[in-house]
Amino acid sequence: MRFSRPDADVFVPDGAPMPEALRRATHVCVGAHQDDQEFMAFHGIAECFGRKDRGFAGVVVTNGGGSSRTGIYADYTDEEMIRVRVREQRKAATIGDYACEIQLMHPSGDVKKPGHPGVLADLRAIFEAVTPEVLYVHNPADKHDTHVAVCLRTLAAVRSLPRERRPKRVLGCEIWRDLDWLNDGDKLVLPVDRFKNLAASLSGVFDSQITGGKRYDAAVAGRRMAHATFFESHATDKADALNFAMDLTPLVADDALDVFAYTQGLIRKFEDEVRDRLARLG
Ligand SMILES: [Zn+2]
Repeated sequence: MRFSRPDADVFVPDGAPMPEALRRATHVCVGAHQDDQEFMAFHGIAECFGRKDRGFAGVVVTNGGGSSRTGIYADYTDEEMIRVRVREQRKAATIGDYACEIQLMHPSGDVKKPGHPGVLADLRAIFEAVTPEVLYVHNPADKHDTHVAVCLRTLAAVRSLPRERRPKRVLGCEIWRDLDWLNDGDKLVLPVDRFKNLAASLSGVFDSQITGGKRYDAAVAGRRMAHATFFESHATDKADALNFAMDLTPLVADDALDVFAYTQGLIRKFEDEVRDRLARLG
């Protein structure tokens, strides 16, 4: 496969030829940055881990440039930091036994430009080669511009394909802003309590971001536990770690459905729930 950036990085942990690796991929995650897929789509990684009939493929759209750096990374140039982040993502792919890892290496400024031809062409090329059963992507109510841009570009790429070539399910996942606000009936509940050892290893690989000042590894594990504990007030926890996702499948089933209108519909349902409870108890 050829991508628009000469530094695009394609890695197949088991050394299989790329077409074969992509054919094995039943679960695909498109994330903005190195580490996003491990934090938001661990459900998919765990669904595929150790399975002969499933495979997880990760796609990182940006080059991870411009990230903060302290400690041992304090004097790294941006170029050196990008290389570290690419290596960390490859390590995660090996630990998680992914079918393949594709790092497209676009500057985030390009990803945020609507209609950037290279970004769209690269994502389209991936979905021409693989039709995942489940696609994990950022959700449109995330508060990180690059995450939302990747969500929109991914939806545009999928919508450019014939309907029979589109993923069967598309899940909008949580990173910068969680999805606890979705009404329970609108939440896709993803148990992530299997392979906690693997989850810890995958989160811990991204030392450059954690040493860079943020304990993403602890925060991600804490969010999963908090979701499990606070999901249902009257039930004992069935799983002790959960992620929530927004169902974006309607957006790839109906090209006329506007992304904002769809998201607004979910926000309005949340508004209705709060208003109804206050009215009932007031
Ligand atoms: Zn990110």
